[in-house]
Amino acid sequence: MSSEEEIAIGLQSAPHMAEQHGGLYQSQEMQDFVDMVGNKLVQNSLAKDTPYRYEFHLLADENTINAFALPGGQIFITYALLSKLENEDQLAGVLGHEIGHVLGRHSAERIANSEFWQTLSQGASVGADMGGLVGGIGQNVLLGNGRGDELESDDLGVRFMMRSGYDPNEMVGVMEILKSAGGPNRIPEFQSTHPDPDNRMDKIRASIKKYREQGF
Ligand SMILES: [Zn+2]
Repeated sequence: MSSEEEIAIGLQSAPHMAEQHGGLYQSQEMQDFVDMVGNKLVQNSLAKDTPYRYEFHLLADENTINAFALPGGQIFITYALLSKLENEDQLAGVLGHEIGHVLGRHSAERIANSEFWQTLSQGASVGADMGGLVGGIGQNVLLGNGRGDELESDDLGVRFMMRSGYDPNEMVGVMEILKSAGGPNRIPEFQSTHPDPDNRMDKIRASIKKYREQGF
């Protein structure tokens, strides 16, 4: 799958995903804040040297604690999650993790392996069939990151935070929040397929140590 196809899939799917979370949160000020933090992470990392178009969307959903990324750079965070965060560094942690999914091509790899995409790419023109894309690919394929993807994105997120001058220990803080918010039903993106927060915290601390030793 080419970068152009990844970007097209993300752009085509974005409105549908936003719709499922009550559309965009109606505050330009808060959206600007999310953009500022997201763009800072991109500008200070290898993400800026990729063809992806990063866009950050604050969703109106006040109940579902969630953040997720579509291929090509469309990134979302719900108001429910944003409102739980305690500082800018934690927001950088969440967005950095999602940028990690884009860079790691986690969703793109799952789509490319899906039956739907195989069929599509064999005959039909991609552009023409984009309309039914989310339905065709299915949300599990789009958003169902595996454990390895999550740990990789945590590691990249820590790296992006440090590059932008954020306190990477706040990524551990994000995990604490997810853990206490999780309860019996854990959180969506940060849900079933995600490794346990305690486990992630240990790995995050190891990443911080690793990058410190590398002089980040
Ligand atoms: Zn994730």
